[in-house]
Amino acid sequence: MKRYPFLDLAEINARYSRQLREAATRVIDSGRYIGGEENRDFERNLSAFIGGGCEAVGCGNGYDALFLILKAYMEMGRLTIGDEVIIPANTFIATVLSVVNAGLKPLLVDPDPGTMNLSGKIAAPALTPRTRALITVHLYGSPAWDEEMLHLATDKGILVIEDAAQAIGASALNAGINGNFAVGSLGHAAAFSFYPTKNLGALGDGGAVVSSDAELCRTVRQIANYGSDRRNHYRYLGVNSRLDPIHAAMLSEKLKDLPEANNRRRQRTTLYGSLIDNPLVRTPYNPGSVWHQYVVRIGSGRRDDFRDYLASNGVETDVHYPVPPHRQPCLSYLTHPPLPFTETLASEIVSLPISDCTSLDDVIEISAIINNFK
Ligand SMILES: *Cc1c(COP(=O)(O)O)cnc(C)c1O
Repeated sequence: MKRYPFLDLAEINARYSRQLREAATRVIDSGRYIGGEENRDFERNLSAFIGGGCEAVGCGNGYDALFLILKAYMEMGRLTIGDEVIIPANTFIATVLSVVNAGLKPLLVDPDPGTMNLSGKIAAPALTPRTRALITVHLYGSPAWDEEMLHLATDKGILVIEDAAQAIGASALNAGINGNFAVGSLGHAAAFSFYPTKNLGALGDGGAVVSSDAELCRTVRQIANYGSDRRNHYRYLGVNSRLDPIHAAMLSEKLKDLPEANNRRRQRTTLYGSLIDNPLVRTPYNPGSVWHQYVVRIGSGRRDDFRDYLASNGVETDVHYPVPPHRQPCLSYLTHPPLPFTETLASEIVSLPISDCTSLDDVIEISAIINNFK
């Protein structure tokens, strides 16, 4: 039986084999293994890619990017311990942990049923007098942005932080606070992840903070470097969170192909959308998405049957995510409003294969298999 793998990172990176080896060799021969030119180049390449006058600061991973943004705003006096941060409840746990570990209070809200994302329309009624920030998560690659969110960011004094870990290269339908449409330039600051499975994946951990706020970028840079504002002088209680030059060099190479790589994902999802025709399977509609995941919904308690059926036909799937953060043991102490839609989603969602390992012919075959599910 033919097998349809969900993701094969070796096969995906084989496409970039020569460039990745050249990048690694550059770093090996440079003798510079922390910081330096490769990092400066990648930060410049990334900020040019995002646009909107943004600066990029490389760091250890996507979680650190979120945590560093929150810590920097605290050092800048824009956030205080105990302040509330609105977060969509159906996110990856890293979003919630960054808030908790910064000493802030997550305020979980159910996402919009149509987009599975947070919107300003949903966030606005959840605001309390202690709410100082929100993290909009561009889940599955789909921009979580609307007029109301812009209004919260510009007129209501709410710090809007983008968790753009899954959405590099995506564009919102309406511009953000500096008139740019690109995800990562919409709110006050954004966090990116270069975890190997992400749309721009490193060969290890990596992340970046992106913002047009020079003071925020400087503070993030200092906190990420043990809190040092100049040599042998430590202004903040900092951490060590660096993007390794070997990853920066490789990411600069892969970034050149990112628009094409995102297009290849879009082709596959468009094909799924036009071919999947089964009343039990609801396909997503997310204009502007870069399709980190293509997530369909199977209701009536049939999700696990659907996954078993696909597996028995050689189709590997995944679930992002089967247990929402507020149901995890480490966060069981959190108080939150009822989150019925988040819990429904967790029981209904399935991610289909869309990576470079899945050919357009594979998509046609998988769609036919899905259409035979009863
Ligand atoms: C991957 C991811 C993160 C964390 O990124 P890491 O690089 O793994 O630390 C945060 N938020 C979301 C939505 C993610 O998908």
